[in-house]
Amino acid sequence: MKDRAHEILDILQSRFALPRWNRSTNDPFRTLIATIISQNTTDKNTARAFKDLSRTFRITPEILAGAQTSQIERCLKVAGLYRNKATAIKQTSRAIMDRFHGDLKNILSLPFEESRELLLQLPGVGPKTADVVLLFCAGKPTIPVDTHVGRVSKRLGLASTDGTYEMIRASLQKLYDPADYAAVHVLLIHHGREYCKARNPLCCQCPIDKLCPSKSMWNKE
Ligand code: SF4
Repeated sequence: MKDRAHEILDILQSRFALPRWNRSTNDPFRTLIATIISQNTTDKNTARAFKDLSRTFRITPEILAGAQTSQIERCLKVAGLYRNKATAIKQTSRAIMDRFHGDLKNILSLPFEESRELLLQLPGVGPKTADVVLLFCAGKPTIPVDTHVGRVSKRLGLASTDGTYEMIRASLQKLYDPADYAAVHVLLIHHGREYCKARNPLCCQCPIDKLCPSKSMWNKE
């Protein structure tokens, strides 16, 4: 199983370029806010909403905790669920001010499980948002499972078909080295967008079809 998982990763690495991420310049609070905005919307709309928010406010817990919710909402309209997201952003900013002296680094410097637990207590922060911040801003050993990562992992047999978020995360983490976690997350998303689409996966063009137990389910030609 591990060999197959590594073969899949090697092929995806040869197909898709990986971004260069620099943990020291990834601001955890900005990453947290962008990830909250990204829930149930496209990257394009996330970027537009984040840009509007950044034009209106400095993206700091102090500023957003004191901002008017209606003003945050106006910036987020393009990203959908803007009322919920604006409330979550304001409340989580307030909680970071009150509980962590306005600095998420106070959480991220703690051991992994402890920091994850604390992030999950923030309003609007679910497991995926917490794991994105932990992985990309602090290099903690976790694989965020978004909709693409979940679907592709199940079809590839890297996680059980009825796996929950935590089950999928645990399965992937057992198969790969922590040094590859960020690449696994990014590459499974690329693969899910380009080939292993939700409704009509392009199995005939898929670069890892020979390693996929689900191919025959979708390949009806
Ligand atoms: S063969 Fe089809 S189902 Fe399997 S990974 Fe490729 S696109 Fe997805």
